[in-house]
Amino acid sequence: MADTPITQPTDFIRAAVIDDLNSGRFTRVHTRFPPEPNGYLHIGHAKAIGVDFGIAEEFGGQCNLRFDDTNPVKEEQEFVDNIKADIHWLGYDWDDREYYASDYFETLYEYAVKLIQKGKAYVCDLSADQIREYRGTPSEPGKNSPYRDRPVEENLDLFGRMRAGEFPEGARTLRAKIDMASGNFNMRDPVLYRILHASHHRTGDTWCIYPMYDFAHGQCDSIEGITHSLCSLEYEDHRPLYDWFLDELEIYHPRQIEFARLNLSYTVLSKRKLLQLVREGLVRGWDDPRMPTLSGLRRRGYTPEAIRDFVTRVGVAKADSTADIALLEHCLRDDLNKRAQRVMAVLRPLRVVIENYPEGQVEELDAVNNPEDPSAGTRKVPFSRVLYIEQDDFREVPPPKYFRLSPGREVRLRYAYFIKCERVVKDAAGNVVELRCTYDPATRGGNAPDGRKVKATIHWVSAEHAVEAEVRLYDRLFQVEDPDEAPAGQTFLANLNPNSLEVLSGSYAEPSLKTAQAGSLFQFERQGYFAVDPDTADGKPVFNRAVSLKDAWAKIEKGQSGDGG
Ligand code: ATP
Ligand code: MG
Repeated sequence: MADTPITQPTDFIRAAVIDDLNSGRFTRVHTRFPPEPNGYLHIGHAKAIGVDFGIAEEFGGQCNLRFDDTNPVKEEQEFVDNIKADIHWLGYDWDDREYYASDYFETLYEYAVKLIQKGKAYVCDLSADQIREYRGTPSEPGKNSPYRDRPVEENLDLFGRMRAGEFPEGARTLRAKIDMASGNFNMRDPVLYRILHASHHRTGDTWCIYPMYDFAHGQCDSIEGITHSLCSLEYEDHRPLYDWFLDELEIYHPRQIEFARLNLSYTVLSKRKLLQLVREGLVRGWDDPRMPTLSGLRRRGYTPEAIRDFVTRVGVAKADSTADIALLEHCLRDDLNKRAQRVMAVLRPLRVVIENYPEGQVEELDAVNNPEDPSAGTRKVPFSRVLYIEQDDFREVPPPKYFRLSPGREVRLRYAYFIKCERVVKDAAGNVVELRCTYDPATRGGNAPDGRKVKATIHWVSAEHAVEAEVRLYDRLFQVEDPDEAPAGQTFLANLNPNSLEVLSGSYAEPSLKTAQAGSLFQFERQGYFAVDPDTADGKPVFNRAVSLKDAWAKIEKGQSGDGG
């Protein structure tokens, strides 16, 4: 527990927790994060993790990791392993409290038997389609199942035989006996158990009946002594059902509080849809850097700090809303600006020969590693007669306000000299393939002793020393703000951005990047933040552009403050 009472809650959930501690309803805080291992975690889960683990941490409590593994057909060990890795990567830990709904299958079975004995549950022989038909509509009450009034003894017998595997899949279910006329569909005799002759990734073939999520979730929370069961808004309508189970079973009662899910512009966050993208090969896998999964974001270059900052800034609310992806990108820039080492890399190279620079001469120039962090020091960058600059930093016919290189014009090479473009070399097709330049030896370090000015500084690499690299430039995976708004008759896939990936195979980076390790992060000067991809092979690094330097969010914020830009 916090030593001093916390009195300034930042949101309604924290306010409720404080109330509960002050009123004595609870004397401790114990939450859980309950993923279903049927996919990888995404940025929406990061929000739930921030709420569940974050609140436990702030109130000196505990947070369990509990896998909701009640559906053996969709769940896999691969997902369990990756979910755990992702939570640890975000910086949270559950100590030894790693639980599974399947740990409680026996207890849940006993709970079901108790409901049957109390006359509160019955074995129903209606098919899934019939159950749906009998359920009614929002305006019409449902109809009672003809099996609803089976005697307790018969129900006990049939339920036992369901467990023993005597019936085929779909033949029977166990249902709660609540109220087929309830205004809340969840209360219209919901199914508690179904027959599934499927192997479970943990319990193997021990069971052929499996509890429904709704029958498992609240009871698992109860068994684990969870105080605050924090979940997303879609469970608000399930709360009366969870309360009914706990009351009828006469077991410990956690408090459930719902919050709005995170939605993100230009992004889908449904596991079903993410799975579809992976299965249909529309992305390279769950960790494709365009995916909103934590593994995709990590590969892209996102840091846990940036994601946690984003989740905090989005906050916790009761009403649904959509966060701007520009805010997520802003959080990453903010974080990497402080710690990413600056380097020079030329994405689309144009060869430059400095005619008056001696052949064979190499100078080691000092370059600053991070202007935001003096302790990061400096490094040496080799300079020689043949360089690469960015194609875009040269225009044969410069448009107005273009101050970079063009014939007859002088610019500064970062950390090096002023150079002047003397001549352009073209291929047979008329494309510029090389620039012939001269340099001014007196401008070493970037200033002219005579005080003459240049209007642009550009980056470069030494051709002989640079390391050849592949650079992957990413754009949004979807080209519209709400990918679910598809044209009539089409799905969200119609909104995929056909240009979400551009691969540059002939880029060059300064030699310090020859040994860059997968996962390390750099700022390529003037271009953006880049992460070294695991595809990096001996001698040829592969870089993912995490985010460009242009900050759309800062612009939005400025606009909102009335500054006008
Ligand atoms: P989907 O509906 O895509 O299958 P889910 O909610 O079923 O996702 P779970 O693995 O059950 O996925 O989610 C674990 C926890 O994370 C749940 O408590 C759920 O409410 C929460 N969660 C999932 N998506 C979001 C989101 N977009 N924003 C906030 N919390 C989320
Ligand atoms: Mg779920």
